[in-house]
Amino acid sequence: MNRTANRPRRKPAARLTDGGNHALNFINSCKKDRKGGFIDLLTNYESLVNWAHQSNLVDWDTYLRLQHELYCNPAEAALCYAVARGARNTLDELFNDLVAGREVHPLIITRFNDQYADMCQHLRYQPGNDGIIRQYFFDIEENLNLPLYLIIAQATRLLDTGLWRQIKKCPACGSLFIDTSRAHNRTWCSPKTCGSIKKSQRYYKLRKVA
Ligand SMILES: [Zn+2]
Repeated sequence: MNRTANRPRRKPAARLTDGGNHALNFINSCKKDRKGGFIDLLTNYESLVNWAHQSNLVDWDTYLRLQHELYCNPAEAALCYAVARGARNTLDELFNDLVAGREVHPLIITRFNDQYADMCQHLRYQPGNDGIIRQYFFDIEENLNLPLYLIIAQATRLLDTGLWRQIKKCPACGSLFIDTSRAHNRTWCSPKTCGSIKKSQRYYKLRKVA
C-alpha cells in the first residue's frame, strides 16, 4: 500500500523561488499566482528563516541559532522581518527596473546604499585557513539580520560582476532568474511549472478552435 498516495506534496521553498541567485530568490518569495493575486512565502521572521534554510542561504547550524534568537528576542525578530520586507521591495524595484531597461529611481538607489552600508559594518578582512586574506562577516552568527546581509551581499555580486545583464523575468509568474542557457533563449522560470502551464494552455486553445 502506498501511504503517501493521498498526502499533498509540499514543494520546498527552494524550488518555488529558485532564480540562480539568493537575492533573486528573495525577490521571488513574493510572486503572482494563477488568479492574478500574490503569494508571499515570507509572512513573519520564522518563515524567513525557514525559507533561508530551505533555499540553502544558511546552513543547519545557523538555522538553529537563528531559531533560538527568535525564541529569545521575538520583538527584535519582528523588527528584522519588517526591515527585510522593506529591503525586498527595494531589491524588487531595483532589479525589475534593470531587467526592463528603465532608469532606477534615485530613492531606490539611496535605499540600496543604506542596506549595503549596514551590511558593510559587519565585514572584516582576515586571513583564512590557507593564509589568504579575504573578506568575512565578523561576529554575526547570532545576528537576526544575518539572512538579509547574505542576501544584500548576493545582490552586490550581481551588480559588480555584470551578471545582472543575464537576468530575465518569467512572463507567467514574474519571477526573476539568471538565464545560464548556452543560447540565452530561456523563457520560463521553470519548464516544469510556468513552461508546462503555458504549453497546456496553448494546446487547450488549439483544441477548442479545432
Ligand atoms: Zn514563472
